[in-house]
Amino acid sequence: MGHPKRLGVMGGTFDPIHHGHLVTAEAALWAFGLDEVVFVPTGQPWMKADREVTPPEHRYLMTVIATASNPRFSVSRLEVERRGPTYTVDTLQELRRQAEDEVELFFITGADAMLEIFHWKDPEEVLSLAHFIAATRPGYDIARFEKEAPTSHPKVSALDVPALAISSTDIRRRVQAGQPIRYLVPEGVETYIRKFELYGGGR
Ligand code: ATP
Ligand code: MG
Repeated sequence: MGHPKRLGVMGGTFDPIHHGHLVTAEAALWAFGLDEVVFVPTGQPWMKADREVTPPEHRYLMTVIATASNPRFSVSRLEVERRGPTYTVDTLQELRRQAEDEVELFFITGADAMLEIFHWKDPEEVLSLAHFIAATRPGYDIARFEKEAPTSHPKVSALDVPALAISSTDIRRRVQAGQPIRYLVPEGVETYIRKFELYGGGR
């Protein structure tokens, strides 16, 4: 009998997916000896009600394009197919149910998103389901994270990721303004954005 599979879970809106996400997943894979990372694009994100989010199918396909060349990366349709708001807790429980063998789950998030998770739900319940890897990202107040998140908890770890000041918000703004996004997102993702004229940009 082997050891349980170590499965990384990278949740996100991925509107669009960018190199910050990919570098973070690869760093977590390496640092925590994960067997695989599954990307889980959100269905209808309730935390982002303030703006219109691109239809899930587009975000799902861009995530597939971006991860296709990495044999240890895959993409789940779990949240894309679920109606109504999605909760991290439900997703983690479902991934565990779907796994054939015993799995150890590692939820990978930016430190910002990590705090949100702990504000929504009972931390002990969330922590019983997975290890949490909080990636630090530029512009983020790590002192606040230390104060508010249970970093002393054995199931929460911080992960230093090479400073990538890339965000989906900035990419959408760039497309709208006609500025370049080349090298910020994988080439295929840029092609996809142009093809479907996403984010108010032309071709
Ligand atoms: P938006 O600007 O629309 O919020 P985003 O760039 O933050 O988009 P999300 O889809 O919200 O992307 O993020 C998914 C996960 O990836 C979150 O846990 C987020 O903290 C993390 N993340 C996003 N960008 C980076 C980055 N450059 N470096 C490390 N982690 C990142
Ligand atoms: Mg975000």
